[in-house]
Amino acid sequence: MNLSVSGHSPSKADLELEIERLYEKMKILHWTKEDCELIAPLTWQINHLKKEKDAVILAHSYQLPQIIFGVADYVGDSYSLSRQAMDVQADTIVFCGVEFMAETAKILNPEKRVLLPSLKAGCSLAEGISAEDIKNLRNEYPGVPIACYVNTSAAVKAECDVCVTSSNAIEIIKKLDSDKVIFVPDRHMMKNLGPLTGKHIIGWDAECIVHDQFTGEQVQQLRSENAGIKILAHTECDPSVVLESDYVGSTSGMIEYVRTSNEDSYALITECGLTERLKVEFPNKTFIGSCVLCPYMKAINLENTLEVLRSPQPEQEINVPTDIATRAKASLEKMFEMTSIPTG
Ligand code: SF4
Repeated sequence: MNLSVSGHSPSKADLELEIERLYEKMKILHWTKEDCELIAPLTWQINHLKKEKDAVILAHSYQLPQIIFGVADYVGDSYSLSRQAMDVQADTIVFCGVEFMAETAKILNPEKRVLLPSLKAGCSLAEGISAEDIKNLRNEYPGVPIACYVNTSAAVKAECDVCVTSSNAIEIIKKLDSDKVIFVPDRHMMKNLGPLTGKHIIGWDAECIVHDQFTGEQVQQLRSENAGIKILAHTECDPSVVLESDYVGSTSGMIEYVRTSNEDSYALITECGLTERLKVEFPNKTFIGSCVLCPYMKAINLENTLEVLRSPQPEQEINVPTDIATRAKASLEKMFEMTSIPTG
């Protein structure tokens, strides 16, 4: 591997410092110094290239720990990352997340260059509905407002009235001036939002391949095997999971619950990355594993992050046609207008 960054290579002392910096965080996840030695040349180069190329890395909480603790400038959920994308001053945003998030960053900050390290970083929800499907729903239910989950393509956002995330879906849907609301595309979230908002929700039949795997029985078993545990589930889970959980919300909501609660042990019913992040950030609390990996999120790694910074391929640069971007931005801006929560 070429360790040179525009002619500047890490010295032995640089690498030793980098290994120490990484080990401080990663030892909580049982990484050894030898493990950190293997990734230190990559994280060192990425961090130096970021400065040289005036780039920042926005990373979702489901990313690998070496991305979150090694190279990310900001870590959050879809809502907080979209707020953060609006404020980025650097020329380039490298999005360590999935494609719809990178598209959202581009729509909100169009003059920035937005790079996605892997073309495999899609999402089963975003791929589960098209702009044509939204037009058909509008024809079928005239006058019913359409709220689309942020996990959708820019073309779908462009056809909706308002965008929502798991952090603000309840608040926004409650505020919409209609007893009936179309919410797309997550069928589990659609069922959860009915009782939580008091509205009649018309939905769609797509799901997150991660949250779809959890069942209410699993949660019951987890509770019976771990006395006193607090179980926090994502709103994309099946209603049977929601029913058995102590808290239901976004990843930011789960983090806030852990931060403000006095309990000792938690199970996070979501993608594994969040559990790893919280083990490092709350070393005095215990997290019992019951998580599932997202192959789309895990398509991003240090190697392709370095490569996209070093020499981005045209297909790794996110571009959204202007007419779609303008209408999708209106859905996102409506979301910000209707949300009282600050950046998480
Ligand atoms: S965790 Fe689910 S919603 Fe998130 S990117 Fe993966 S498939 Fe999509």
